[in-house]
Parts: sequence; C-alpha cells; structure tokens
Amino acid sequence: MSEPKLYPIHNHLKGKTFFTAEKYQRFYNESIENPEAFWAKEACRLDWMQPFTKVKNTSYHKEDFHIRWYEDGTLNACYNCVDRHLKDKGDQVAIFWEGDNPEDSRTITYKELHQEISKFANVLRMHDVHKGDRVTIYLPMIPEAIIAILACARIGAIHSVVFAGFSAESLEGRIFDCDSHFLVTADEGVRGGKKIPLKKNVEEALQGKAAHILKKMIVVKRTGGDIPWQEKRDFWYHEEMDKVAIDCPLEEMGAEDPLFILYTSGSTGKPKGVLHTTGGYLVYAALTHQYVFDYHPGDIYWCTADIGWVTGHTYSIYGPLANGATIVLFEGVPQYPDASRFWKIVDKYKVTIFYTAPTVIRSLMREGTDFVQKTSRASLRILGSVGEPINPEAWEWYYDNVGNGRCPIMDTWWQTETGGILISALPGVTPLKPGSATFPLFGVKPALVNHKGQIIENNSEAEGNLVLLDSWPGQMRTVYGDQERFIKTYFTDFPGMYFSGDGARRDKEGNYWITGRVDDVINVSGHRLGTAEVESALDAHPKVVESAVVGFPHDIKGQGIYAFVTLHKKEPPSESLRKELIDLVRRKIGAIATPDRIQWASGLPKTRSGKIMRRILRKIAANELETLGDISTLADPLVVDDLVKNHKYTVSA
Ligand code: ATP
Ligand code: MG
Repeated sequence: MSEPKLYPIHNHLKGKTFFTAEKYQRFYNESIENPEAFWAKEACRLDWMQPFTKVKNTSYHKEDFHIRWYEDGTLNACYNCVDRHLKDKGDQVAIFWEGDNPEDSRTITYKELHQEISKFANVLRMHDVHKGDRVTIYLPMIPEAIIAILACARIGAIHSVVFAGFSAESLEGRIFDCDSHFLVTADEGVRGGKKIPLKKNVEEALQGKAAHILKKMIVVKRTGGDIPWQEKRDFWYHEEMDKVAIDCPLEEMGAEDPLFILYTSGSTGKPKGVLHTTGGYLVYAALTHQYVFDYHPGDIYWCTADIGWVTGHTYSIYGPLANGATIVLFEGVPQYPDASRFWKIVDKYKVTIFYTAPTVIRSLMREGTDFVQKTSRASLRILGSVGEPINPEAWEWYYDNVGNGRCPIMDTWWQTETGGILISALPGVTPLKPGSATFPLFGVKPALVNHKGQIIENNSEAEGNLVLLDSWPGQMRTVYGDQERFIKTYFTDFPGMYFSGDGARRDKEGNYWITGRVDDVINVSGHRLGTAEVESALDAHPKVVESAVVGFPHDIKGQGIYAFVTLHKKEPPSESLRKELIDLVRRKIGAIATPDRIQWASGLPKTRSGKIMRRILRKIAANELETLGDISTLADPLVVDDLVKNHKYTVSA
C-alpha cells in the first residue's frame, strides 16, 4: 500500500476545541480504567427524574449475558431533548426546515416544538397508544417526523421509523415484525420534485400479513394529493391536533425501557430489528454529538441523513436536541433543483457543522466542482462522513472543495447496533488520514481478532475482525423479539466480545482503517483482501466515480476479483481505460489485487441509505442470476437489470 497523506491539525482550531491530544488521552484512559466513574460523570449531562445508583452492569458471557446501564435511574428522552431547554432557549430555533422546493421553509423554535410534541403526544394517548406500544413512523423529512418521534418518547411508546423511500413490502415486513398497531404517515412525500405515494404504499402494505395487525393511522397532509381512505381507521393529523390539550404530562421511563426499534439497512441480509433503550442511548448520543463535532452553542448543525436510518435518529434528532442545538432538516435531495443545493442550504442557514455520507459526496463529485465553487460555504467549520469507508479520492474532494481546506473531516465508524459513533477523529486532536476513522472514542475498547478469536497483538499494526471488548452505553440491547438472534449474530463467533461484522486494519500509530465487511473479504490464492482497499485504488483514477469489488469463483486462485466501475458522466468506457485501471490497482496494492474482470456500471445497487449491496454483485459476478435474493431495500431495483445485461457482455468480451 502506498503511504497515505497526513493532514495535521488546523492552526485555527488549536485552543478552540473541547479536547487537545493530551486531554483526549487522559479522558480516554480514565474511561477505560474506570468506566463506572467516567460514565457516571458523563450521565450528568442529562436531567434524570430518579437518579441512578448503578452505572454499568454488563456481561458478554453466555452463561450470564446482560447489558444494563444506569438501570435504576429514570428519565424522559423528550424532556431532555426539548422541555429542559425552554427556560433558556425557548425562542431559539430548534429546526430550520428546508422543503424540497427551495421556496418552502419553516422555522420552529424550541417553544413551538414543545407545543407540537405535547399535542401530538396527547393525540397518541387519545387513540389509546401507551407506554411500550410500537408506533410505526413512515414519514418524509418534515418537522412532523421529529414531532412524532419525540411524542412517542414523551409517552413511552416505542417508535419504529421506516424510511419513507421504502416500498410497501419493506413496510409490511417491519409492521409485522414488531407487531405495531399504530402508524403515522403522510398523504405523499416530495423529493427531487417528484411525489412519493406514501399513503398508497401503506394501503398496499396492509394487503398482506400486516392487515390484521395495524389498527389505526394518522396522516399528515403534505401535498393534498388524492389518497385511499378508510373511515374509523384513518385520521388526519391536523384534525386530531385540534382536538387535544396543549399540556401533556411526561411518562417516567426506566433507563432500560425501550426507546426505539430500528431495522438495519439490510446490506448483508434480512434487516434486524435493533432495539435501543432510553438512558444509555441518550447519554451516548449527546456525548458523541458534542465531542465528535465539537458542538458549541451557536453552531448551526446539519446532518443530511434521513430520519429513517440510525444516523438520522442519533445525529439529526436525539444527540443535537439533547444538546439544545439548532438543526437543519432537509426534505429533498442533493441534486435538486441542481447539484448546488446542499451548498446553497449551507449558505442560507450559515451551517457550521455538516455531516453526510460518502455516497452523497461521490454523487456530487460526479457532477463536477462548479456546483460547489459557485457557493460560499464560509460558515463551515467541521465536516463529517458516515456509512461506508470513504475512499481518499472522495475525502480529498470533500476536504478541498466543500471545506476549502479549512475544515477537518470526522470519518465516523459506527453501526445501527452501536447507537452512536465508536471510532472517529476529534477536532483539534487527531491528525487526519483520508480513509481512516482513526481512534476509538471514550469508553470504546476495540480490538482485532483472528478467525479463532485471538486478539492480534494489542498495540501495534494488525489486521483482522473488528470486535469490541466491553460494553458502552449506546449499545443495542436486543434484536426485537429475538434475543437468540442477537446473541448468535454478535456474541457467538468470538465468545466474550461484540463482533461488528467488519474487518479492519490498524497502522503503526494506532489508526483504524475499516476494510469492509468480513463476509465480503476476498481470498485470492490464499491472500485476504478487503473490498474497501481495492475500491479505493480504483476510485483514485480521475475518471472513476465509484466502484464495488467482489470475489467470484476462480479455478486457479480460489477467488478472482470482479470490479464494477462507474465512470464520471462525461467519460466513455474503453479498453485502454480498463488497462489503466488494472495498472493502477497493481501499482497501489500489488499484483495480487489485479482485477480479473472489470464491468462498466451506470449505477450500483445500493440500499436506501446509500450502501452498496455487494451480496447482489457477488451473485451477478458468479453468474447466479436466478438467485439474487431480497432486493426490496434497494434504492433503485432497476440498476440490477442493467448490471445483469452488462454482465453477459463483460463475461463474453
Ligand atoms: P445490515 O446489518 O442489515 O447488513 P448495514 O450494516 O448496512 O445493514 P448499518 O448499521 O446502517 O446497516 O451500517 C453499519 C455499517 O456501515 C458498518 O458495519 C460498516 O460496515 C459501515 N460503516 C459505517 N460507517 C463507516 C465508516 N465511517 N467507515 C467504514 N465503514 C462504515
Ligand atoms: Mg450491519
């Protein structure tokens, strides 16, 4: 591997951030040596109803498996995100809402947010929704989504948010899986100028096995379009909101009472209903939001993630609101009306902290830099990335063009299961290496283990399966209704440890580099190669926008390397380019990583949260076209048809 570039700490940040390198080390050591004391202190950032006397009570061992944090404390998440800010920040903007259409916007103060949430919580209660009930939320990126989520938290109902881009089939499965009797949706959503028939999808979802489960729903009128309607089961949001009182008492929740269920994105198989509880999750969300983004009062914070995935939960809602932040909530897509949209929004609201995903960066990169350069972005201070390893090429584009070389990028590694960020740089602390998530956060004890579960030398260069040796407060507590699957998935391959399913490499300085999912590792003639490494090498070519690499059965090598490559819009594929790419990979990694096949792809199969579904690509590469598996969580199932067609051509060429 060629040596990565190192980006030192920006001078203008020195002395201005929460942490220095020295202070980080001191905090980190303390958090590992004495987690009880560390997490007791950090929990004071929340307001508790009954203070906890126990902090950590966890064991990963089979005989006595349990994960409990702050177990005898009580609190309310909505109170912590909203009510407690009213005294000082009632008139501060909580949400800048930006509609799909640039002319549409709304500003909601903490006081207004509090009123809306209280009313909607009363609507839920009026409809017989109580503590512990599961409420499915199938809403677009409109303020009512946050209102509905926090209203559930207020009364102790468990929300299960289903991304509004998901199909009826995905929705059906999720309603069924968590036995949800109540749903909140909208007539239609609007994204990129197009309408999304949400209510119609709900109706379709209720044709099958979810039909007898769901009893009632509330519908937000977003567009006023024509929709199917069933009296006594369906109620308009605005009509119900007129019927209720403005005050809504808070439910006192145990720290270990469930807060929400969220299904993983399904990149590797059937989505898991990840269950998070109240106290530990919220402590962890608030802490990581504050420290990783160096959040200070006055910052305008924008996380572009949809509320339908975990980043939207932890870093668009719970973390920032627990910290009393002003957030931006955007209904639309980065390319509409044109590819400048994100940067125009940054300028409009003077966003200081901006958090997005590599897939977004690459898609905007594809459109060229003009769209960025015609905006100012002078307000930006900190950038973030999450969802996949970010290839150095995209990292540098983000850093140079979006951040004008002024803003450090926090590449944050975490999972739905982890509740919050586990590995990330910290502003003012960590010199950056493009493509590395760098170091563990407080209380996080990562290790790399071999296939037998033996820890590979503790403090030096290593590569292996990424595990966590101890619990942290934001950790998921179970797979909803399936504790067995929970233990089997995360605690069985390597007993006594949490297994992330990801592979990673640690360099001399201790920086972590996620190499991709362990199931995706390719074994070429006995050499193990992470998909991320080969993809990064391909992506480094100026004509390449992104790529996905998978293994396929190879007579001699065991597995061969099959690369799907997407080129910049104006670049035609050619034989000479194919050769250039192969040379590039050989140069950057070595001959062992030489792709056996390169297939040009106009698009890659991605989940709705923008992750590449390599399991589908593996099937295509192996020519197993009849058994592609579950593609219901794909953003655009049509790309698969295209890939299948081109596969035939690639193989015969
Ligand atoms: P499923 O578990 O259903 O297959 P998923 O793993 O895609 O879905 P998420 O929990 O949304 O669902 O994604 C977490 C995964 O995303 C991580 O395990 C890792 O593979 C990848 N990931 C997230 N952030 C980063 C990052 N900064 N660098 C590298 N990989 C990342
Ligand atoms: Mg996963």
